[in-house]
Amino acid sequence: MGKTQASIERYCRQEAETASLAKDFAAAISQLLNKTPNAHLNISLKGDLGAGKTTFARYLIQGMGHEGKVKSPTYTLCEPYPLQLNKIAFTAHHFDLYRMKDPLEWQEAGFGEYFDVPGFCLIEWPEKAEGTLPAFDIQIALSAGAQDDERNIQINAMSALGQSILAAMNK
Ligand code: ADP
Ligand code: MG
Repeated sequence: MGKTQASIERYCRQEAETASLAKDFAAAISQLLNKTPNAHLNISLKGDLGAGKTTFARYLIQGMGHEGKVKSPTYTLCEPYPLQLNKIAFTAHHFDLYRMKDPLEWQEAGFGEYFDVPGFCLIEWPEKAEGTLPAFDIQIALSAGAQDDERNIQINAMSALGQSILAAMNK
């Protein structure tokens, strides 16, 4: 899995701070997609059960304008969210690969094409695919803090595209 090219680390003391970080991240992605409507970003979400991967994905997808629910794709493996920015349509595909029994199950399910469509893929439990997924632009690592509602969140850029997202967040 490539090298980290830049990273942002935030200590979120409560869920509202995670929400705020996810919204900043959403704004940076929106900025990229506005400039480059055909862009596709691959984003992994790593961390133990309960670390907050789905919670972060939820605030991110809602931060991009989705008004309905964002439920965990634990059983479906992947949930699509059609999004729109200034009349440009794109899609967020939210994966949870935890239940995969074979590393290539995602390909057999026909999900391969989702990695090319304008928008982004968010992947929980990429480890279950054992390196069979396309390269990630951004890797997000979440871990528990000392208190119940504390989480440490690291956003690592793994490509030039990922780096441009982090640069937009730091402005
Ligand atoms: P995962 O997808 O990593 O298994 P979830 O997002 O489903 O984890 O669950 C995380 C749980 O932790 C949720 O119930 C959420 O409300 C709670 N939580 C408490 N504090 C935070 C925080 N700072 N950031 C994210 N989630 C938090
Ligand atoms: Mg989850």
